[in-house]
Amino acid sequence: MISTTILEQIQQEETPLYYYDLPLLRETITTAKAQADRWGYHIHYAVKANFNPRILQEISACGIGADCVSGLEIEQAVAHGFQASEIVFAGVGKTDREIQTALKHGILAFNVESLEELKVIGNLAREMQLEARVALRINPNIDAQTHHYITTGLDENKFGILMHELEACLSFIHTAASGLTLVGLHFHVGSQITDWTVFKRLCLKVNEWNAWFIARGYIVPILNVGGGVGINYTQPDTEPIVDFASYFAIFNQFLTPEKGQQVHFELGRSLVANCGSLLSRVLYIKNGVNKNFAILDAGMTELLRPALYQAYHKIDSLTATEVTLEKTVQYEVVGPICESSDCFGKNIQLPPLKRGDLLAIRSAGAYGEVMASRYNLRQPLNYYFKE
Ligand SMILES: *Cc1c(COP(=O)(O)O)cnc(C)c1O
Repeated sequence: MISTTILEQIQQEETPLYYYDLPLLRETITTAKAQADRWGYHIHYAVKANFNPRILQEISACGIGADCVSGLEIEQAVAHGFQASEIVFAGVGKTDREIQTALKHGILAFNVESLEELKVIGNLAREMQLEARVALRINPNIDAQTHHYITTGLDENKFGILMHELEACLSFIHTAASGLTLVGLHFHVGSQITDWTVFKRLCLKVNEWNAWFIARGYIVPILNVGGGVGINYTQPDTEPIVDFASYFAIFNQFLTPEKGQQVHFELGRSLVANCGSLLSRVLYIKNGVNKNFAILDAGMTELLRPALYQAYHKIDSLTATEVTLEKTVQYEVVGPICESSDCFGKNIQLPPLKRGDLLAIRSAGAYGEVMASRYNLRQPLNYYFKE
């Protein structure tokens, strides 16, 4: 995946280093957009997956919108080319200042999660003499069949407006001078969803909710079905880009919007995960009693997902030769941080490693550098962009 010319350049660089394949990123975004365009669908990139300025510039240049979860994400998205009129703002805990930021920019919609939040947004909008466009986040109560930390669409989760508050939300929006305009319904079931029947079930739920609103006289302009498309972490080279054609086809088949209702998506991981790798050098090899440890110069401070939710990332040796590739050794690949959870993988088969060898921890473009921390007073991140 990394050419020998680039590898030679990288050998001069300090590790740990985030490597981004920008041509692959562009191909991923243009593929997703082309497939969405077939059905007239709109995509918002979930900025929380990766807010690196270079990545944002590449994505905004492809002409899609953004999905933000903080005021600074809104500022960052606008600063790097996204149109404010294409930005949606989600999150259960929006502060007054963040709401004012969003109002000032005139974003497309607030995805609202409670009656109290709705009232606060209305008040702030009236103070600023602006109108706030809101979409109501409905909890579809669907099991995303993914890790429980990244399941969001079940009744037991903190997300979405509670059923018993919904009627009150609607009447509040429609009181005179509420400062609010209802523009949509919003759904999101979770992340890294690989069982695509989940999306079919989501469509059916959205249809039901849409009918519920229509029965009350509201044909909202936007049905926002969220994101959560899973990527192939085990084989990033055979399947670098998600099958977006099939993904959007599910919505075309099962979602039944009214004439004129737009369908919006919020894709994060599936747009950026596979364009990034965390490159790291082997510091030490420690042959323990029952296993071999490969101790890297990158740790959970650079890529938290394995420590946070035992996430799998493929690990490749970039310095293995054809000879060493033949006979692999089993390693526990760990970082230098003073935590036992600082482990990238157990029972990892790799060519025999030695101090100085370069490894690539793959599919680290989403929820990678954005979750980095300075714990143990680590160095700031280093980058390489393949142009
Ligand atoms: C995180 C998030 C997304 C993006 O999820 P991915 O799994 O990265 O596609 C979309 N919408 C909402 C509301 C989110 O919280």
